[in-house]
Amino acid sequence: MFEREIKELYEKISASVCSPDCCKCCKDMIQFSPSEEKNMGGYEWKGKCRHLKNGRCSIYEKRPFVCRLYGTSVLLKCEKCTPERFLSEEDTFALVREYNKFRNMEIGELKRTIKS
Ligand code: SF4
Ligand code: SF4
Repeated sequence: MFEREIKELYEKISASVCSPDCCKCCKDMIQFSPSEEKNMGGYEWKGKCRHLKNGRCSIYEKRPFVCRLYGTSVLLKCEKCTPERFLSEEDTFALVREYNKFRNMEIGELKRTIKS
């Protein structure tokens, strides 16, 4: 698993402050890597993410890459999120490329484990 490498990518994303009355992005299905799924204690979607409780993310510190990126990149701006800074388009693409590399390697590792 590439948990450490993925967590290092989190550090490149600005902290953001969501408006307390907003949970818009938590109603979309999200993508995550196998280690992120484990870290957040599984994932289930029934019209919204099961980790959304009382209008807030109940696993905020353990939320996956995509949840961190939303609202903090110029490409994924949302009305009610106030990040410390926005990631540029170039930095966003670079970060997503890195993330996808580790995510795909984790998925490959998982498939090999299941087959053996
Ligand atoms: S993990 Fe948290 S931030 Fe991400 S979709 Fe679920 S509730 Fe929202
Ligand atoms: S990231 Fe934006 S859309 Fe998602 S909950 Fe926060 S304020 Fe709402």
